[in-house]
Amino acid sequence: MTLQQDLAARIATSGPITVADYMSTALLHPTFGYYSTRDPFGTDGDFTTAPEISQMFGELIGLCLAQSWLDQGSPAPFTLAELGPGRGTLMADILRATAQVPGFHNGARIVLVEASPVLKARQAETLAHFSLSWIDTVADLPDLPLWLVANEFFDALPVRQFQRDGTGWRERSVGLKNETLTFGLSPVGPQPALDHRLEDTKDGDLVELNAPAQAITADIGARVAKGGAALIIDYGDWRSLGDTLQALRGHAPVDPLDAPGTADLTTHVDFEALGTAAAPAAFTRLTPQGVFLERLGITNRAQTLAGEMTGATLNAHIAAHRRLTHPDEMGNLFKVLGLYPPDAPPPPGLEP
Ligand code: SAH
Repeated sequence: MTLQQDLAARIATSGPITVADYMSTALLHPTFGYYSTRDPFGTDGDFTTAPEISQMFGELIGLCLAQSWLDQGSPAPFTLAELGPGRGTLMADILRATAQVPGFHNGARIVLVEASPVLKARQAETLAHFSLSWIDTVADLPDLPLWLVANEFFDALPVRQFQRDGTGWRERSVGLKNETLTFGLSPVGPQPALDHRLEDTKDGDLVELNAPAQAITADIGARVAKGGAALIIDYGDWRSLGDTLQALRGHAPVDPLDAPGTADLTTHVDFEALGTAAAPAAFTRLTPQGVFLERLGITNRAQTLAGEMTGATLNAHIAAHRRLTHPDEMGNLFKVLGLYPPDAPPPPGLEP
């Protein structure tokens, strides 16, 4: 049995499913889901993320969170949370960089939100020296001031896709044609959640709606407004247009409907929807990752680390710095949105 067969049987019985349903099944099906069954990162895997490229990424995120915590009077205890921590590399770098910040480790209750059992085990290994807890959803976060980071988490959440038809919308679905999964469209109907997109779209345009991302950000925003900060890092734009669903296998793009469960599926993040959902928390300007890391001093840090390096190690380090920050690499594609209490300073590196 494969997930393709499982989905085909389900669609044959009950009809086409939404793109969101397809995404969440392909990524998180308990037996065949992409994240449920593997560690997808690194050169042997399907994709590489910023914390896996260089320790500098997590170190600077750590210092940003710690400075924001100091700016708000070092409340303790507080929650230090990460959404979708992957291999645990980012949290390990955050904790190493903040070890010297007085009171930060003592006050921190480290909480990881992770759905994949394989990756939970990997995080437990990476962070073996720390006391941690795992929860399934942000609703279960402790009732404490909250400093939180999410890198490439929101892009993995299931989106629904809608194609404009007059003043209504047709939902894109996944159905079957000759035993093969294919995209289709549902009959036209109203979609109140997309009223604001009637202003900037025309007939035939496709827009995406990430309801889980908005619900999660609303929960985080309600907490952060009372004390804390959140850094949301992902690729996307203030408001995206068109089909951004993409699949990656072995670092190459593949058809998102091909062999579900064996490729990573993501969409671009619509940051406007997150910023709006975060009220009463304030949100910063959407800032390119390269600009954010430069403001936090990545070049100084890179030079310090380079001092002890030679040969291939030094070349790899220089390439990693470029990859994280250069506008032609991740520097512009990836963006950072900060959430913070309206009466507190924004997290360093992010202007309002
Ligand atoms: N932040 C990491 C990993 C990004 S990959 C890094 O930068 O390297 C996405 C992560 O989110 C994985 O850990 C995946 O298992 C987790 N994830 C995806 N969907 C999730 C969901 N609905 N709930 C909790 N975790 C989820």
